[in-house]
Amino acid sequence: MPRRQDGGRSASPDPRLESPSAIVGRGVQRRIEIRAGSGWLPPGAYLIATWAAASFPAMLPALFLSHGSPMLAIEDAAARRCLQTLPGRLPERPKAILMVSAHWERLRPTLSAPPVNETIHDFGGFPQELYAIRYPAPASPDLAERAAALLAAGGLSAQIDHRRGLDHGAWIPLRLAWPDADIPVVQLSVQTRLGPDHHYRLGQLLAPLREEGVLIVGSGSFTHDLSAFRSTGGVLDAPERDWVHVFAEWMTNALAENRVQDLLDYRRLAPEAEHNHPTEEHLLPLFVALGAGSGETRRLHTSTTYGILRMDAFAFGSQPDAQKPAAA
Ligand code: ZN
Repeated sequence: MPRRQDGGRSASPDPRLESPSAIVGRGVQRRIEIRAGSGWLPPGAYLIATWAAASFPAMLPALFLSHGSPMLAIEDAAARRCLQTLPGRLPERPKAILMVSAHWERLRPTLSAPPVNETIHDFGGFPQELYAIRYPAPASPDLAERAAALLAAGGLSAQIDHRRGLDHGAWIPLRLAWPDADIPVVQLSVQTRLGPDHHYRLGQLLAPLREEGVLIVGSGSFTHDLSAFRSTGGVLDAPERDWVHVFAEWMTNALAENRVQDLLDYRRLAPEAEHNHPTEEHLLPLFVALGAGSGETRRLHTSTTYGILRMDAFAFGSQPDAQKPAAA
């Protein structure tokens, strides 16, 4: 398979999504508790302040990441560099990560809480070095329980899986972003038969985790018709197919304009929707992130690999490039 140093064709930027101003201004209020360990407040006292997100945008966004081919773990591509620089674009280091992977389908929402996160190599026919990779991020039964409780409070019954490890939809992007594997990770399954509305609701119910320092990540693919893979010859920088382009442009415009209802109805409204997603599992994680992020959208990356896989990444609900204030 050919390699190219700058593999992956970058699409033209969309100023509505790339401009920092596109995600500032909703004025989300958040309460911040600052423990006073020293200074003018006595030990243990609290200073409770309310800030506007526009002036203090430190809350973690929710992310959608396209993980593409498993080869992303070992071959150079534009999307790979986006993931490698991701931590520096977040307002703070996540305390834990809730990863919604397209590669874990269950009839009910299911959260992983194993004693140890095993690395699952759920793909076939790839170079041996991919199968040697391990990503031993800690598990977090506490986060799994907390997420299940939030879903239950919203009327969605979730279950805990005490054996599930990390599939490649989770560990490939996480290993590029946090190679030390030192942030606890919990996976959440998708329910492919339940469609976008259900996954948007999942995101809404899980949104409070963002204020608790949890990074909510949907990992899928902006476009994902693998049956067309052979027609492109497996060339990393093959020209983008027209039917891929028109769908991705429609989605990008709808995200930029925050047309949530249109997005939830994308299968009827978007051109070439079923062509790009014969099954929905690789797009459904986007709706979890969209629901968790409450409508402020910023595109972190766009490129196309193999002519058919758009590698777009989005942040919802905060300002990823904001610097964390020193006092917080
Ligand atoms: Zn995948």
